[in-house]
Amino acid sequence: MNIILDLDGTLINEKMEPRPYLKVFLHTLFSRFQNVSIWTFATIEWFYPVFERVLKPLMPEGKTFHFVRCRIGQYNTGIKPLTEVYGRFPNIYNAKNTLIVDNTPYTYSQNPQNAIPISTFTGNPFDKEFLRILNKLSFVGTPFISQYDKKEPRPFSFELYR
Ligand SMILES: [Mg+2]
Repeated sequence: MNIILDLDGTLINEKMEPRPYLKVFLHTLFSRFQNVSIWTFATIEWFYPVFERVLKPLMPEGKTFHFVRCRIGQYNTGIKPLTEVYGRFPNIYNAKNTLIVDNTPYTYSQNPQNAIPISTFTGNPFDKEFLRILNKLSFVGTPFISQYDKKEPRPFSFELYR
């Protein structure tokens, strides 16, 4: 299984604060999913510092996102059609093995059957959405050994595709 995460309002709030339980959320996803990715309409200039300051310290050592999709130029339709990902990685992603987590229902309006809705995180320190979703995902099989698992820490890199 593959999972694609939204950034703003899902993993962090406007102040770049991480949603409660983000660490356990990421660690669990990386242990259970073959590929964990980010699709954000943020610019790469916004994403980089968020990754370095907020996400990277909470990710399991040696793990990296399979891809990070940031806004390219003027592109910002507000929709995240998963067919775009299926076309880009036909041997990896398909409609039966891909989930998307996003706080804006409009973004997954073309593929609602693959979506896991999540409320918008604005800073509530008692937010438990990640725990709710992990519970919901408990059906997702046994721990998966990712192709990215390495005994040695892996230097961070990600594939930005356009
Ligand atoms: Mg969002």
